[in-house]
Amino acid sequence: MLDKENLKNFDVKFDEALSNYTYTRVGGPADILVFPRSIDELAEIVRLAHAFETSLTVLGNASNLIVRDGGIRGLVVLLDHLDNIAVKGLTVGSEQNGTSFEIAAEAGAKLKGLTQYAQEQSLTGFEFACGIPGSVGGAVFMNAGAYGGEIKDVLSTATVMNPQTGEISVLKNVELNFAYRTSIIKEEGWIVLSATFRLELGDRESIQARMDDLNAQRASKQPLEYPSCGSVFKRPEGHFAGRLIQEAGCVGKRIGGIEVSKKHAGFMVNVDHGTAKDYENLIMYVIEKVKENSGVTLEPEVRIIGEE
Ligand SMILES: Cc1cc2nc3c(=O)[nH]c(=O)nc-3n(C[C@H](O)[C@H](O)[C@H](O)COP(=O)(O)OP(=O)(O)OC[C@H]3O[C@@H](n4cnc5c(N)ncnc54)[C@H](O)[C@@H]3O)c2cc1C
Repeated sequence: MLDKENLKNFDVKFDEALSNYTYTRVGGPADILVFPRSIDELAEIVRLAHAFETSLTVLGNASNLIVRDGGIRGLVVLLDHLDNIAVKGLTVGSEQNGTSFEIAAEAGAKLKGLTQYAQEQSLTGFEFACGIPGSVGGAVFMNAGAYGGEIKDVLSTATVMNPQTGEISVLKNVELNFAYRTSIIKEEGWIVLSATFRLELGDRESIQARMDDLNAQRASKQPLEYPSCGSVFKRPEGHFAGRLIQEAGCVGKRIGGIEVSKKHAGFMVNVDHGTAKDYENLIMYVIEKVKENSGVTLEPEVRIIGEE
């Protein structure tokens, strides 16, 4: 059995409450929570998971997750330490026949820091992501997007590890099968190690002004004062999830400590020590009411993982 002795050289916590890490503030314990300090350490963890037949779950910034109250068995990996960011260089003659720069970021880097870094380098194209509270790995995994932009618009390459074999590959944008809130990484269960993003030279002040504007729009429309996982549901074709939820009379509906936000019907906020079970019950309730009212079946965007 995998124990403390096998993991003595790692930054590791045992029986650690994941509610300390999730944006929803719900989630039971991880048996073993590891924070690899390098790709080599991550590769070693993948090897140990195989050798000891232990399950392995990779988390990013835990902002699109509901971890169930029973927690997660086996190894849970948080890539917080893998957060380097650097300008890679200049590419003359990009796809658009222009001049572009590449930024390289490790999977644990936060989009907030990365977009601010791009602004400091006078690089434009990433402003849309400045308020998304995810990591590079989580954002690439599900092709995160906002305000008309998506990761697929700026990503050049992603370096991924196959957790079955430990093999590392560099994939180009076109090989990642990006679509609305999904990618081949999600389909295959690969681990994102890092990514490069292609951005254009712009004006620093205009970039900052655009980011300030988007952040102000977010703060005015989203209940950022409460724990949540952002929009709970995907946008159904031809509809807005928030409007359907509103029309079904679900705004303000509360189960346990979780409530359909009164500020943004697409969000469910943890207003009073809610649990993952409360979240799941409220999600089921809303799906049922929206189906009854409009005939549309909402599909969760949030990932629900772990044990009851
Ligand atoms: C207030 C708020 C606002 C939000 N606004 C938006 C928005 O505008 N647009 C949007 O798209 N999303 C939004 N989100 C949701 C969330 O921030 C994004 O989905 C983000 O991309 C998730 O990244 P993460 O690192 O937090 O992933 P996590 O929540 O940690 O994980 C999500 C999934 O990604 C997988 N994953 C994470 N890292 C890796 C990796 N390195 N390799 C492989 N798999 C990995 C996990 O296993 C899990 O299945 C919002 C969330 C909140 C709380």
